[in-house]
Amino acid sequence: MDKQNDQSRMDKIVSLAKRRGFVFQSSEIYGGLNGFWDYGPLGVALKRNVKDAWWRDMVAGHDELATLTGAPSPYEMTGLDCTIIMHPQVWKCSGHFDLFHDWMIDCRESKRRYRYDHLHGRWAAHRGKKVFVTTEASGDEAVPETVARAQKFFGLRAKQVDEIEWGGGLESLEQVIAAGSATLADTLGPDAAAPGSLTEPREFNLMFETRIGALAGDDDDRAFLRPETAQGIFVNFKNVLDTSRVRVPFGIAQVGKSFRNEITPRNFTFRSREFEQMEIEFFCKPAESAEWYRFWRDRRWKWYLGLGLTEGRLQLREHHRDELSHYSVGTADIEYAFPFLAEGEFGELEGIAHRGDFDLRSHMEGKLVRKDGELVVETGPDGKPRHRGSGKDLSYFDDVSRERYVPHVIEPSAGADRGTLAFLCDAFHEDEVPDEDGKPRSRTVMKFHPRLAPVKAAILPLVKKDGMPEVAIDLYRALKPHMACQYDEKGSVGRRYARQDEAGTPWCLTIDGQTLADKTVTLRDRDSLVQSRVPIADVVDLLRDKLA
Ligand code: ATP
Repeated sequence: MDKQNDQSRMDKIVSLAKRRGFVFQSSEIYGGLNGFWDYGPLGVALKRNVKDAWWRDMVAGHDELATLTGAPSPYEMTGLDCTIIMHPQVWKCSGHFDLFHDWMIDCRESKRRYRYDHLHGRWAAHRGKKVFVTTEASGDEAVPETVARAQKFFGLRAKQVDEIEWGGGLESLEQVIAAGSATLADTLGPDAAAPGSLTEPREFNLMFETRIGALAGDDDDRAFLRPETAQGIFVNFKNVLDTSRVRVPFGIAQVGKSFRNEITPRNFTFRSREFEQMEIEFFCKPAESAEWYRFWRDRRWKWYLGLGLTEGRLQLREHHRDELSHYSVGTADIEYAFPFLAEGEFGELEGIAHRGDFDLRSHMEGKLVRKDGELVVETGPDGKPRHRGSGKDLSYFDDVSRERYVPHVIEPSAGADRGTLAFLCDAFHEDEVPDEDGKPRSRTVMKFHPRLAPVKAAILPLVKKDGMPEVAIDLYRALKPHMACQYDEKGSVGRRYARQDEAGTPWCLTIDGQTLADKTVTLRDRDSLVQSRVPIADVVDLLRDKLA
């Protein structure tokens, strides 16, 4: 396996993504906008294929008559497409208005802003001078970074670095300040020359705010761009029940944009301010919810493996009890070892959460808090609900067992952009292939799963004469209605293969002299490089079978 956690590998992926039109910085001609990304011609096809695979595997292709492996019973799946701006009360009752924030800290000297929980540091002392040196770097880079910063701060030459006395390993700034073992006055900010430049941490709500209407001005016009797609599903729960024939257990799926005003967007598309989510809210009987939680966790894990992510780079991580949200009974993250992370670190692709009846109850009764182990409506100083719910009955009546209850929810919540980024990183390979003269040539090849590949097949006439282009165009037209394919007659065939390898096209079909004689073409496999002869008449069925 290639070394995965490697910044130079990541740099190559980012540069290929730009050069071949997978991902561009948003508004690039104006200098770009931090945290916003555009998908180019190949990228839009890749991301669409990720979303389509999810929708087909989870929703459209779901067999509600079968009991899937690990599932307690058959279940139904349906979908929704909700608005990005919703009634502001939605976010008050869901808890996002009060709680969806990060702590940020500013540097008066460098004018930079940091997420408080992203800063780490350690004590450094030299000739009676002592400072808590911080860095934003993580993993292997963090310690050398603190050494370099301390050296500069104390004005030492490289050979004097050993004179610095270190007060232990890296610690979280947040925890050190909370424990009182350092103060902000002693702290050297990550980009500052002198200590004491960091401001007190402040809460920062991650929801983007906007105003509704032409006369927008007072507080009643304030609205938010959704930070997750899930709430649209909860507030439509009753609509779906009343208008379709679904019965518990069933799931509602949605794919759509979400917005978070991340304090420090970074790592390419991994932490963006505008991104897409693929979420399912699965409603089940409370007594069966633990089994459904395990089913969804395992099913989602297998989905990533089925689409080719390397198992050794994936991790299924169950949250510890103290990591769980106040309403959650269990949560697991599916994580991927992205190359921009330090060795041994993983980044979240998807969270699968057992949410109990928290969401439906919040939208019935009002914002909930946990008190003495129970979820109760939070009240203000006047004793009234702090954020009043809709008052609508969101319970479910099971007409077979004659029971009424508020369903429990299992939520598999995936990021379409993070998934796409993982597939992009995992696909990237560098190897050597023989060129037309049999000499080894290095190649960059994107080994996407055929279902995800932006282009499935390329049709290449060996030369632009002798009737080859005509045969190739006929084949292109026969394939096009069935799959994304490209016709390419420009340059040597070796060059054309190289272009398709970089785009991740699994199959190339070459029309040559023999084609004219026996109506066969060469089928080249991107990964094995095996070239076989296939009758032209069989090509469409053969590739369709491979994609099925
Ligand atoms: P993180 O801890 O990385 O910020 P989170 O736990 O807040 O993520 P969730 O609220 O569980 O994320 O969102 C579900 C999914 O949405 C995540 O697993 C991720 O794939 C995606 N997602 C969340 N925030 C972002 C973001 N800023 N950019 C891209 N994708 C995101």
